[in-house]
Amino acid sequence: MEDLKVLQKTEHLHEARWWDTAPDGRAHCYLCPRHCHIGDGQAGFCFIRVNQGGRLYSLGYGAPAALQIDPIEKKPLNHFLPGTRIFSMGTAGCNMGCFFCQNWDISKSRSDQVNSTPLSPEDVVLLAIHYGCPSIAFTYNEPTIWGEYVIDICKVAKQYGVNTVMVTNGYITREAFHDIYDHVDAANVDLKAFTEEFYGRVTLTHLQPVLDTLLWLKNETNVWFEITNLVIPTLNDGVAESRSLAEWILKNLGPDVPLHFTAFHPDFKLRDKPRTPPETLHAARAVAREVGLHYVYEGNIFSDGASTLCPGCEGMLIRRSWHSVEENLLDDGKCPRCGCAIAGRWSNPHSAMPVSALARARSLAERRFGAVNF
Ligand code: SF4
Repeated sequence: MEDLKVLQKTEHLHEARWWDTAPDGRAHCYLCPRHCHIGDGQAGFCFIRVNQGGRLYSLGYGAPAALQIDPIEKKPLNHFLPGTRIFSMGTAGCNMGCFFCQNWDISKSRSDQVNSTPLSPEDVVLLAIHYGCPSIAFTYNEPTIWGEYVIDICKVAKQYGVNTVMVTNGYITREAFHDIYDHVDAANVDLKAFTEEFYGRVTLTHLQPVLDTLLWLKNETNVWFEITNLVIPTLNDGVAESRSLAEWILKNLGPDVPLHFTAFHPDFKLRDKPRTPPETLHAARAVAREVGLHYVYEGNIFSDGASTLCPGCEGMLIRRSWHSVEENLLDDGKCPRCGCAIAGRWSNPHSAMPVSALARARSLAERRFGAVNF
């Protein structure tokens, strides 16, 4: 466990949920399947859940280390309000140990090692409204580990008609799953590979808890979710593995869950691997479509594989270039040629909220952060 002499100075202490006291007196955190047992003055594997005087605290609460406005396609979500902006935020730390992490500057940092901005849940939502974003993404590092903050932001967001999105590795326990996901509107789950060997050796976690999360999302929630598989040369880029992954999705989640195969670039501890060749993504996409998945994408490269095709007539529906929507031909969520209904959330699920609530949200955002220009 991480020694906390420095962390103890932090001001960002918020009592944590999802913990109890183990028989040996240490704090047992059961938010994720690591089940860390944390001694007084120490932090869990994720760096941002700390034991002080026998109680567990979340250092991530109210302390985002990264704030940015992204296209929603960058999360990636291709079937949730396409072409809209999403207010994106992350904190420090992570509960996985991926050697290829592409946000390692914050995910492998402790809270006191990053510049963070104090921001209450209400201020997060008002900032999103101020910048004309209909959605907020919890992203960049793993949001599960700051679940207390996520839940409080989601509650305020719901009042003001703003959507919330988890961009997650899916490493969460049954005990915490509904506490968080009952509040969010959408998710993108990284399914980093389809072998326990890869998960154990390259992410320092396990595959089955991630598959369990996908099953719970499908069977127990109304959350719209998509799946991302980062394809890393020599580690998880075999066509047989892509086929097995696609077959599992088809059998357990159905054909309409979008799957994104994305390109790796050398980063963090995996600098000896080359970038993913486009041909590898083309092959993975082809095999997943052959298996029967309706919406399979290629990401982090310029490719026709970023666009949405109709599973009924194969016609182009949403033309994308990288993260930009160039053309959207959907007609009320349907293909304009064959009428096939396309799975997704094509209009804001909160747009039916009373006009008075929307006006109040805009007025609060203006008072707090200045004119709302959207
Ligand atoms: S959330 Fe953090 S402290 Fe809790 S079990 Fe997971 S890694 Fe450990």
